[in-house]
Amino acid sequence: MNKTALASQESTGEGRRQSVAYAHGNLSTTKSKAPIIRAVDVYKTYQKGRLKVPVLRGVDFQVEQGEFSAIIGQSGSGKSTLLHLLGTLDVPDQGEVFFGEQRIDNLKAIKRDRIRNQEVGMIFQFYHLLPELTTLENVLTPKMISTGAFRYLLNRRQYIERARMLLELVGLGHRLNHKPRELSGGEMQRTAIARALISDPTLLLADEPTGNLDSQTGKDIMDLLQRLNRDEGVTIVMVTHDNEIASQADSVVRLVEGRVQKSRNQAA
Ligand code: ADP
Ligand code: MG
Repeated sequence: MNKTALASQESTGEGRRQSVAYAHGNLSTTKSKAPIIRAVDVYKTYQKGRLKVPVLRGVDFQVEQGEFSAIIGQSGSGKSTLLHLLGTLDVPDQGEVFFGEQRIDNLKAIKRDRIRNQEVGMIFQFYHLLPELTTLENVLTPKMISTGAFRYLLNRRQYIERARMLLELVGLGHRLNHKPRELSGGEMQRTAIARALISDPTLLLADEPTGNLDSQTGKDIMDLLQRLNRDEGVTIVMVTHDNEIASQADSVVRLVEGRVQKSRNQAA
């Protein structure tokens, strides 16, 4: 099933993608070169007490439709900071961030929130699942939050069907009613991946998605992300400090002293 097929599971009729320049198509067959997200000469400095800590010092970064890109760098090199700027969780001090052709760093917070809810899926090292909810309910939470109670109830069956389908896709069709404490680390990350895909995002951002997993489970999660990229056309930006994990992406951007060094993987 490709992204179009995934998307067709959810005919919300919201026309939401018209806000960005690239209409989504069958990404798995058209690896076009339009950048989905682009950071231009971005700077970010944090204040630690009286100390200013410059983290990003003129970073250029872009990801094309259908690409699987890795951001690598030592701990503290600013990987998560950059990912947060790309995911509209934060804004740069200087520089610009574009989603499609739309500049997003200077939008009002409410508009950035909308872009994040509708276009971006995120997964994290520690999954961030809600412990009292089942796997299925966890996957549905973004829908509950973003659509509001009325629309959620109206479309509930359709959302549940999509959540089930995504849990099947990530290999958890048999764990729908389990709570997170009844799942392994790998299963929790699979749940988080399904949750990140529930709103059919244009872009999946992954912050050290294998960082808390043993190496075999980490490989399985990488296989899943690669399959989602290759077969479903999901565009992925993944942060990692692990060279071997990063080498499985199409391209690798290395953050060193607040700037990027880019190299294309031989294997891509
Ligand atoms: P990485 O993900 O590569 O490990 P981060 O982007 O999380 O690095 O952090 C880069 C640097 O910025 C670190 O020194 C970190 O302590 C600092 N930092 C990150 N977020 C904040 C914040 N909200 N306030 C102050 N300092 C921060
Ligand atoms: Mg980090």
